[in-house]
Amino acid sequence: MQQKWQQATQVIHAGHQKDATGALVSPLYQSATFTFDNVEQGSACFAGEQQGYIYTRLGNPTTAELERKLAILEGSAAAAATASGMAAVSAALLTHLCYGDHLVAAKAVYGCTFALMTTQLNKFGIETTLVDFNDIDAIKRAIKPNTKVLFCETPVNPHLDVYDLTAIAHIAKLHHLVSIVDNTFMTPLLQQPISLGIDMVVHSATKYLNGHGDVIAGMVCGSEEVITKLKTEILKDIGAVLSPHDAWLILRGLKTLDVRLARHCDNAQVIAEYLDKHPQISRVYYPGLSHHSGHHLIGSQMRRAGGVVAFELDSHFDGAVAFVNRLKLFTIAVSLGDAESLIQHPASMTHSPYSCEERLAAGISDSLLRISVGLEAVEDILDDLRQALEGG
Ligand SMILES: *Cc1c(COP(=O)(O)O)cnc(C)c1O
Repeated sequence: MQQKWQQATQVIHAGHQKDATGALVSPLYQSATFTFDNVEQGSACFAGEQQGYIYTRLGNPTTAELERKLAILEGSAAAAATASGMAAVSAALLTHLCYGDHLVAAKAVYGCTFALMTTQLNKFGIETTLVDFNDIDAIKRAIKPNTKVLFCETPVNPHLDVYDLTAIAHIAKLHHLVSIVDNTFMTPLLQQPISLGIDMVVHSATKYLNGHGDVIAGMVCGSEEVITKLKTEILKDIGAVLSPHDAWLILRGLKTLDVRLARHCDNAQVIAEYLDKHPQISRVYYPGLSHHSGHHLIGSQMRRAGGVVAFELDSHFDGAVAFVNRLKLFTIAVSLGDAESLIQHPASMTHSPYSCEERLAAGISDSLLRISVGLEAVEDILDDLRQALEGG
């Protein structure tokens, strides 16, 4: 039944189990540990002979409801909630990679994912090759006998490049690799990688899934076998599990995901088109624009283009900084997927540790700006952009 519902219904009802009190909203089980009636029951729970909660690092009823809901939404057999998006990325990778293994990932990935792969995993003898995932042959060429995993996110910063997930899943199957996709920018409502043949999905639930800017969280979706291994071998010992309170907040946030995303996408389309026509803007990157390289995958791989828009001002570093400082409605902040429209200037913020050459090589020019389009009235967002552009 729950699998057959439309996703707009699933975000509200899927995974919910009526409790003894009949509470409309599932109670928050804010408890670190769970009690046993006698030693025999405790022993049976530890042995897995009897179902039951033991200790929240191993499982919790509130977190379990979130996991059931997300698995249904992504179309996976199971899901695990984690303490952050980075905990989801690292748990997914550590479930599949050991000393001596090799990983092929997209050159453009979330900054901390890049650092995890090139710095942390490297310390433990796991090697990463980064390639342009727009180039399918480059992915094939990077595969070695010890390659175990293909990893990417799509659409991806800084230019919202869209990678062909069907082609990537195909290569993974051909070479017996595990394919993992970070679906944070899309959520399962706009893109379901598993339906395209991808093995695992990871999320920063901090972004659209929670949607209210008040939680750091992650999710991993995959097969029953892999998620069980991830929970019982990796998360149990590394310990980056989600707090039940945060799981409860995400369950609340998820109920409005469908209506929120519709507004995020509607607003982002209007804003991208406005910026695209503006003489002071040299380039707009948004898959919803017909000139974007990923536009042809809208309607097939991804339902809509999402809520993140990047653009370059026809200006220098200082001009971009002054423009951002003139904005009044926009909030200057990293992150995305919140009700508030957010803007960040990568050259002076997220990518300031890079040298100028490294930044330009990564496609981040001095005047590149990224906005996470919020849920405000689109006229007010446009007015703010207009006044900041005219004020220059
Ligand atoms: C934010 C983000 C992450 C990291 O998530 P946290 O919840 O901040 O740990 C990973 N991937 C993408 C695409 C993100 O936007």
